[in-house]
Amino acid sequence: MGILALQGAFIEHTKMLHRLGVDSFEIRQKKDLLLPMDGIILPGGESTTMFKLLNDLDMTTTIKELIQNGLPTFGTCAGMLLLAKTVDNYHSDFLGTMNIAVKKNAYGRQLGSFRTTGTFASTQNVPFVFIRAPHVTEYGDTVEVLSIVNDKIVAVREHNQLATAFHPELTTDTSIHQYFIDMCQQ
Ligand code: GLN
Repeated sequence: MGILALQGAFIEHTKMLHRLGVDSFEIRQKKDLLLPMDGIILPGGESTTMFKLLNDLDMTTTIKELIQNGLPTFGTCAGMLLLAKTVDNYHSDFLGTMNIAVKKNAYGRQLGSFRTTGTFASTQNVPFVFIRAPHVTEYGDTVEVLSIVNDKIVAVREHNQLATAFHPELTTDTSIHQYFIDMCQQ
């Protein structure tokens, strides 16, 4: 598995995969994208900074093509923003491979970070950690909604792409990473 490691919470994904017995490597430059991988994780962090680094390192087109050609992709928080076709409250869009619109920093300052538990697909009581999280405001016909918290859509899947507004890598619960590993093996 490849983990985009330009910025943000990538080490936590490495640890989580390790716990599940899955090898991973860090993607830091364009040539790393040529290595064989079963899937790619776009971590949480700061989407604007991450996207600027992708552009500066000339990685944007390649990563977009890999995703559009079916590479299993998992974006958490800032990673969800990178995948979204539209970011409602932001002047430019990012990779735009996933048919969702999202709102950046959707919970405002006061509720910037919080923990809760919820349902993910058919699994109940999954711990969710939100840190200055986005949520999904619109989605296309091919998008499956996997989690809703307080009436807001916070996890979605569209074919080979999975995105969560929260950070499963910051918990000890492995179910969401296991779901993604299963997607990579399908
Ligand atoms: N608020 C961040 C952004 O706009 C995302 C936060 C996160 O990834 N924890 O990119």
